[in-house]
Amino acid sequence: MTWSDDSRSPGLAGLRPRLPSPVEDLPDGRFERHGVRLVLKRDDLIHPELVGNKWRKLAPHLAAADGRTLLTFGGAYSNHLRATAAAGRLLGLRTVGVVRGHELGDRPLNPSLARCVADGMRLHFVDRSTYRRKNDPATLAAVLRAAGAEDAYVVPEGGSDARAVRGCRALGEELAGVADVAAVACGTGGTLAGMAAGLGTRARALGIPVLKGGFLQTDVHALQTAAFGGPRGDWSLDDRFHFGGYARTTPELDTFAEDFEHRHGVPVERLYVAKLLYALVSLAAENAFPRGSTVAAVITGRPFPGPATGPTPSP
Ligand SMILES: *Cc1c(COP(=O)(O)O)cnc(C)c1O
Repeated sequence: MTWSDDSRSPGLAGLRPRLPSPVEDLPDGRFERHGVRLVLKRDDLIHPELVGNKWRKLAPHLAAADGRTLLTFGGAYSNHLRATAAAGRLLGLRTVGVVRGHELGDRPLNPSLARCVADGMRLHFVDRSTYRRKNDPATLAAVLRAAGAEDAYVVPEGGSDARAVRGCRALGEELAGVADVAAVACGTGGTLAGMAAGLGTRARALGIPVLKGGFLQTDVHALQTAAFGGPRGDWSLDDRFHFGGYARTTPELDTFAEDFEHRHGVPVERLYVAKLLYALVSLAAENAFPRGSTVAAVITGRPFPGPATGPTPSP
C-alpha cells in the first residue's frame, strides 16, 4: 500500500494533510562554513494534530482499521499514543491505549496521558513484564480481553510494522532529487526503513537512534524485509547521539535546542528532533558531508505541549 492508496479513505482525505510536506532552506553558518546546505523537511506541518511521521505511519493503519476500535501501546510520554488518540477523535474512531506501567494508573495522569484521555482514548495500564510480552499471541489476547477490546484493530508499539514502513516510503520519494543525504531520528526505525526505500539509490539515508542499545541495525533490516521483501536503499546509523537514551537529555542538548529555536524560529521537539539536529551540526563539524552536498533534516514532530496541541498558556 502506498500513500495514494490510503488517501482514498475519505475520512483521512477530509483531514486535508499538507502533502508533500514543505522543504525549507535553513541558512546556518555551522553548515555553510563546511560547504553544506541544510534543508528542513517539515513533516511537523503535515497536520496540526496528527503530526509528522505519526501521520505517515498511522494513515495506512487508519485505512485498514476500517472503523474498528484502534488499540495500541506506548509509554507514559508516547508521541504515538497521543497521535493515535487524536486520530480517533478526528475520525470518530474508538481508541484504547495500553500503557506500560501498572502504577501509572494509580497516579494523576501526566499531561501526555491526560491529552490522550481528553481525545477520548481509554487507557489500560499493564505491568512491565506483560508489556514486554505483548507480541506473544496469548499475552496479547489476554490484554485485549482485559481491556474489553477483543475485536480491536491492533497497531503495534510505535506504530511500526510493514504497513507503516510502506507508509513512510513517500517521505523518501518526496526527498529524492532534493537532498544528497536525508537524516531522521529513530525510535523503532520504521520511518528510516520506509524513507530509505523511497530514496532508493538517489540519496543516502542517515538514522540517528535516540535509544541506547545498538539493536536498530537488526530492527531496520527486519522491518524492510517485512515491508519490501529485503533490504532497500542506502542507509546507515550513527549511534553516538542518544544522550543516554530515550527521553534522556543533558544541559548541553537543552541549550543547543533552545539556541536552535531562537536562531531559526523553528520549534524543536526534544525527544527526537533535538538529537537529530545536534548530530547533524556535529557531523558537519567533522566534515562528514562532502562540500557542495545538501543535507535534509526530517522534522518528524513538534514539541509537546506545543503551540498547536498544547494547553492554552496562562497569561
Ligand atoms: C515517533 C517519533 C520518531 C521515531 O519514529 P520511528 O519510526 O519509530 O523511528 C521520530 N521523531 C518523532 C518526533 C516521533 O514522534
